[in-house]
Amino acid sequence: MTGIFAGTKFKELIGSAFTTTYSPSITVEYSGIYKCINCGREITSNMHPDDDTFPPHNKSISCKDAKWKLHVITDTMDDNFKSVIG
Ligand SMILES: [Zn+2]
Repeated sequence: MTGIFAGTKFKELIGSAFTTTYSPSITVEYSGIYKCINCGREITSNMHPDDDTFPPHNKSISCKDAKWKLHVITDTMDDNFKSVIG
């Protein structure tokens, strides 16, 4: 479960960015918090055109099939999420 500082404003969104799952080594399209659909582990990943890809789980995690799904997105593009919701 993601925690958020009390009183922080947030916006609920619906869009295809939240329904796609990504395997390790796939390029990150959206910066934010991702959750593995198989074990629930959460990570942060950032979009960067040069080098950012989704990671595998580290060796201490019993889940060996990381499948990342966007859970919380940041407004990194500063476009009020237009790039996410169309
Ligand atoms: Zn997992």
